[in-house]
Amino acid sequence: MSNLEFIFISPEETMAFSKRLGELMEPGCVIVLEGDLGAGKTTFTKGLALGLDISKTVNSPTFTIIKEYKGRIPLYHMDVYRVEDSFEDLGFDEYFEGEGVTIVEWAHLIEEQLPDERLEVFIYHKSENERRIQLEPKGERYVSICKELLK
Ligand code: ADP
Ligand code: MG
Repeated sequence: MSNLEFIFISPEETMAFSKRLGELMEPGCVIVLEGDLGAGKTTFTKGLALGLDISKTVNSPTFTIIKEYKGRIPLYHMDVYRVEDSFEDLGFDEYFEGEGVTIVEWAHLIEEQLPDERLEVFIYHKSENERRIQLEPKGERYVSICKELLK
């Protein structure tokens, strides 16, 4: 399957999309997010949380690195921007292999620790309110989820 690409012209549009993605998430799913500061990684995660029926407001976990939320299935929200080196082990595996959905901002900083199968999401800042979002599924499970998204 080729990669999917979308343009969203407001944070609400981005969140409506990631909410739909959240509705398709299953236990053990891993999403990695790439994009510059202010691209919309946390905004994307807020929408995803809505799709998991999480009522608590999702905020950037920059200083805590990992935050957990209760929903239809749990959400593990990571922002690894402050991880010192790519091998620093904060117990990431237990989250990746856990019952929840893991979403990782700045994921390439812990590239060596990421599972091979994952949904990669790239967010590009086009203009003040316009973003290009690219989805690259790695593994069959994520290919099916992407196909579902296109329906
Ligand atoms: P990051 O986590 O990548 O640093 P944030 O999600 O915290 O980025 O911030 C993105 C900012 O850009 C927010 O203030 C959000 O409201 C704004 N924004 C404007 N347009 C969009 C859009 N189309 N999609 C996502 N965010 C947008
Ligand atoms: Mg963020």
